[in-house]
Amino acid sequence: MNPVIHSKLPNVGTTIFTVMSSLAAEHNAINLGQGFPDFPMSEELRGLVSKAMNDGHNQYVHMNGLPALRQRLAEKVAGLYQANIDADAEITVTPGGTYAIYTAFTTILEKGDEVILFEPAYDSYIPNIEINGAIAVPVSLSYPDYAIDWDLVRTKVTPKTKAIIINSPHNPTGAVLSETDIQALRHLVKDTGIFIISDEVYEHLIFDGKTHHSILKYPDLYERSFVCFSFGKVYHCTGWKLGYCIAPPALMKEFRKVHQFNCFTCNSAAQVGLAEFLQHKEPYLQLGSFLQSKRDYFQEAMAQTKFTALPSYGSYFQLYSYKNISDEPELEFAKRLVKEYGVATIPVSAFYKTAVDNQVLRFCFAKKESTLAKAVNNLQNIL
Ligand code: PMP
Ligand code: GLN
Repeated sequence: MNPVIHSKLPNVGTTIFTVMSSLAAEHNAINLGQGFPDFPMSEELRGLVSKAMNDGHNQYVHMNGLPALRQRLAEKVAGLYQANIDADAEITVTPGGTYAIYTAFTTILEKGDEVILFEPAYDSYIPNIEINGAIAVPVSLSYPDYAIDWDLVRTKVTPKTKAIIINSPHNPTGAVLSETDIQALRHLVKDTGIFIISDEVYEHLIFDGKTHHSILKYPDLYERSFVCFSFGKVYHCTGWKLGYCIAPPALMKEFRKVHQFNCFTCNSAAQVGLAEFLQHKEPYLQLGSFLQSKRDYFQEAMAQTKFTALPSYGSYFQLYSYKNISDEPELEFAKRLVKEYGVATIPVSAFYKTAVDNQVLRFCFAKKESTLAKAVNNLQNIL
């Protein structure tokens, strides 16, 4: 008898990011789909990591992350969010933000637990929940402003609600949570046993004078939260796959039990280099205006096409409606754009469990202006 896998994720296919990036490569298209920069990262940071390797920092570091790096991160969040974080007890370095989120879910979820999330949602959340035997409870963000209807959220809370996951600035919509949203969240979880997972990987990528309301700023929310970050997004090095999670000591203690028998510890030289580089504040403080100018450049150029921009207040992304062009479903239209016009995007329907198709595509503008210009040039040919 041959062994048989009873799939833990029977309804899951290949992630849309890989589908669209592979299609882009196959057709030699400009890839504005998967979110990664095509411009070089800091030469100084590359130098620091190379130096760390050459200096011999090539063995395991502490399973919770290089102590000096955790210390710098504690200082960073104290400065940015007035958070009083203990680098030893509350920070763990992880191989990316996605892993931090997965580990947080695995730490808290039991079979039959329910997790509230907002759709469109980053595509790892639901599989992360379901692989733990828990149930995803999606709440649709309103279209086209992608705001949270907190009255609707309240109707989804049951005695089985174990957690709620929030993501601001938001992938894929570029929406940003306001102080009012935070108050509503506070109201929702007060006197409940609900955990919060806060995906803040785009914390610095925020535009138009908006403020990032990190959960780290609110002690009453933080005490029930796992807050997840990614170095990839801050330093234009998505391929390094390094991030970290911040959580109160009791929560982090359990998180580390899961982490230590999964990847145990992360890349040593990168952590040494990052610890050094984190002494500079400008690279992350300037990030918002740097990406905002790319959003503006792209949006201005896209005005020459038949696509209609939806507002983006943060992240790497902006949504565009193609209602003036076609009534094809998003996935079909996105594939045709690659094949016929040489531009890859992400269909937003891929971020929904429920079948929602508003005829909008996600474009990544974290690219060189020359790349964005070439893409728009192609898109102008759509009549
Ligand atoms: N959350 C969201 C919403 C993201 O867009 C990303 C980017 N890929 C991540 C988490 C995690 O990124 P990584 O695992 O590459 O650090
Ligand atoms: N976060 C990136 C995006 O949304 C991609 C990450 C991935 O490919 N898993 O495009």
